[in-house]
Amino acid sequence: MGRIVQKFGGSSVADAESIKRVAKRIVATKQAGNEVVIVISAMGDTTDDLMDLALRVSPQPEPRELDMLLTTGERQSAALLAMALSDLGVRAKSYTGSQAGVITTGTHGNARIIDITPGRIVSSLDDGDIVIVAGFQGVSQTTKDITTLGRGASDTTAVALAAALGADFCEIYTDVDGVFTADPRIVPGARRIPAISYEEMLEMAACGAKILHLRCVEYARRENVPVHVRSSFSDKPGTWVKDLSPVEQGAAVEQALISGVAHDRSEAKVTVVAVPDHPGEAAAIFDVIARADINIDMIVQNVSRGAEGRTDISFTLPSADARKAIEALRAEQDRIGFADLLFDDQVGKVSIIGVGMRSHPGVTASFFNALAAADVNIDMISTSEIRISVVVDEADVDRAVQAAHTAFGLDADGEAVVYAGTGR
Ligand code: ADP
Ligand code: ASP
Ligand code: MG
Repeated sequence: MGRIVQKFGGSSVADAESIKRVAKRIVATKQAGNEVVIVISAMGDTTDDLMDLALRVSPQPEPRELDMLLTTGERQSAALLAMALSDLGVRAKSYTGSQAGVITTGTHGNARIIDITPGRIVSSLDDGDIVIVAGFQGVSQTTKDITTLGRGASDTTAVALAAALGADFCEIYTDVDGVFTADPRIVPGARRIPAISYEEMLEMAACGAKILHLRCVEYARRENVPVHVRSSFSDKPGTWVKDLSPVEQGAAVEQALISGVAHDRSEAKVTVVAVPDHPGEAAAIFDVIARADINIDMIVQNVSRGAEGRTDISFTLPSADARKAIEALRAEQDRIGFADLLFDDQVGKVSIIGVGMRSHPGVTASFFNALAAADVNIDMISTSEIRISVVVDEADVDRAVQAAHTAFGLDADGEAVVYAGTGR
């Protein structure tokens, strides 16, 4: 008997009909002789709608209460799925994250899983139930308040449960047939990647490929949980995210230099203008940012135009944190001694990822040539051993992704299918 954790994303349970369709699929897994744990997301765009509602009531909602509100989305879909399963004649019980033993830090909106104490789930499985867990949520170890794990984090709930329950693998059901060489919503000729290493998938997720939540991939790698990403709308084989054997790795590298192109529109750029060009100035700026608990991504320093002996320092960060960063820097403007702050959220990041670039020179040149031919101007650049990222004008993101995808020979003939979802 196998033990399988399956996660169904919001677009797979967008309405009553979809919930009944998914229920049939789950029953088939159970009847094949498996113990089944389901992690469920909120229906369709419910989380966005709840967020919009909160913002209409309060411009800066109290984080604790926002988590109380947002977690109701997953609670709804979990209970509805349990009802649909019962109607199909199987035993099913839904649990909140807290009931399922998902213990987290206390950071509302972005809590981390510290531990899973799955006692209740295991006894429910022993009773023969199909267990349904509301994704994206947990309970703080210290405050005992309800927390959320960050947008898209039901994936992380699923992998963490799979690890805690010693499941054979974790299936992530979504609205496309797996992980593709680029977002199929932007590149219809994207190819499905049959198997990808944790390392490459981590870079893809970190660079904005929202098919998997970043922490889910980190968790899967650390706990060695194989993840199968596939569509809930088809029976096609999906993508295995796992440790690749040397043969698989070799085949992947030979097939293509670049494994995928990712993009991210969720970042913004802040420029600190005319910073005195002394040792310690950059440290002072980024101390302020760190104390505000903000993660930054890229940094660029340029000679300041017009001001002798001064530099401009630009950095990117999640748009959602930009206001906090600017307020924190403004408060220290006199002490640090910069002249002004500029803010631009009309930027996007485009990244190419592939272990193949380790051993092949010229990848950067090919990437930049492709962008130049597509008339895309590069604003910032950063690289790692297996990734090159550029910041460009937000309006150029789609063109840049398409150009890079073609330049590295990733275009396929068949159209990648997007079965549902609004891409929101
Ligand atoms: P779910 O609601 O199932 O969690 P998400 O919307 O979070 O689904 O993630 C699936 C979406 O991820 C796809 O519809 C697709 O637009 C997007 N996506 C971005 N990059 C990729 C990629 N490289 N491969 C597949 N899908 C991708
Ligand atoms: N419902 C949550 C969100 O929209 C979590 C998830 O879908 O994974 O972010
Ligand atoms: Mg998702």
